[in-house]
Amino acid sequence: MYDFLIVGAGFAGSTLAERLATQLNKKVLLVDRRLHIGGNAYDCFDDSGILIHKYGPHIFHTNSRQVFDYLSQFTKWRQYQHRVMASVDGMLVPIPINLDTINQLYGLNLSSLEVEAFFQTVAEKREAIRTSEDVVVSKVGRELYEKFFRGYTRKHWGLDPSEQDASVTARVPTRTNRDCRYFTDTYQAMPLHGFTRLFENMLSHENIHVLLNTDYREIKKFIPYREMIYTGPIDEFFDFRYGKLPYRSLNFQFETHDTEVFQPAPVINYPNDFAYTRVTEFKYLTGQHHPKTTLVYEYSQAEGDPYYPIPRPENAEIYQKYKTLLETMPLVHFCGRLATYKYYNMDQVVAQALTLFSKLEARTPAKSSETKSGSKLVSVPAAGNGKGSARKPRSISTAVLKRLRTGQSG
Ligand code: FAD
Ligand code: UDP
Repeated sequence: MYDFLIVGAGFAGSTLAERLATQLNKKVLLVDRRLHIGGNAYDCFDDSGILIHKYGPHIFHTNSRQVFDYLSQFTKWRQYQHRVMASVDGMLVPIPINLDTINQLYGLNLSSLEVEAFFQTVAEKREAIRTSEDVVVSKVGRELYEKFFRGYTRKHWGLDPSEQDASVTARVPTRTNRDCRYFTDTYQAMPLHGFTRLFENMLSHENIHVLLNTDYREIKKFIPYREMIYTGPIDEFFDFRYGKLPYRSLNFQFETHDTEVFQPAPVINYPNDFAYTRVTEFKYLTGQHHPKTTLVYEYSQAEGDPYYPIPRPENAEIYQKYKTLLETMPLVHFCGRLATYKYYNMDQVVAQALTLFSKLEARTPAKSSETKSGSKLVSVPAAGNGKGSARKPRSISTAVLKRLRTGQSG
């Protein structure tokens, strides 16, 4: 009997599996319908031996010491400050818009104070900031909004920024200094040996069994378990009873070039040209040295794997209806970007999982100190040859699965 059936081996499911197994000595079956652990943060080596992120560029950044310390148990880090350029008016300029962006774009030599005054002259007054258009136009005016945000947002979301919640473009700040980092969080780093290795270290515990290539619905009748943690799309869990929640999807096109470096920045955004939104060159992110280089082009689409919840009032309403159903199911817990329909970054998902774990822990009777000290955290492997080493998570064997299905013990 498993204490927990956890659906989804991304950050939400893996954090909960790790905590429950190591801190509460719970037996966990972690199921994912994909062929690998890691969810959307999964990375792997492509045919040329270049470390790529299969589901688009993932850069770790957080202001949460708790989240950073937690993940640091499973990986060493490589310091990395992310930079993005936008291709606008035939030039490559820094995004978020900063002092250099304005000076390069208009051939000026303004100071910080002068650029601040410039923004004030072009900014449009807004009574309330409700939409993604309001956010940008009220800070930098219509022209810069059209150059940097309107086209990108339309491409990415299939919606005009005036139809999109303010929180979306509010992710990208405006600066009057020369800081050209994409994020300003306290902790910004990439797992030294990649995300997948980090997940392997999280899940390497005798209490955790991992079952891949399996939809939980195929096995939930055969596998005895006490509680479930679900991290997949919430509407799918309830068989779309209140309708489909829209998620934005992406098509990733990978390209390998026979050159060490292909483009002058880790990511280049294309707000106005081409069908793709951005191009990422992975070696900048991973720090890998290799004579070749691989890039990914992101094409946004409505259909396909669910990647982005779409923050709009009518979607929030549908989500709330589904959430109400959960109140009648005390032994099922929802966590993660798809299950809680929130446009969360990785660190926010880990924080959400740690909060859920605290709730589950709080209702668990206190254990003797002996049992607690017996549940040690997985240690981080020593720095290796660039690929590192990891203990493999335990996969559930076909024989065990068969026994579970037929109800035999042993
Ligand atoms: P997921 O990683 O989606 O994991 C859910 C898992 O559940 C999946 O593996 C899925 O296969 C499995 N599953 C679903 N249904 C079933 C079922 N019925 N049976 C079995 N398994 C099931 N965040 C950052 O912090 N920095 C970034 O730079 C960043 N870049 C991103 C770029 C892109 C293109 C995308 C799409 C996201 C990005 N994110 C980034 C966000 C990040 O991917 C998420 O915050 C995080 O991966 C969510 O983890 P999760 O566990 O909630 O969900
Ligand atoms: N955005 C934009 N132009 C840019 C960068 C971002 O219009 O050059 C908008 C767009 O709507 C995007 C949102 O800001 O979806 C958030 O950008 P972010 O880079 O955080 O997106 P993510 O990495 O989550 O895809």
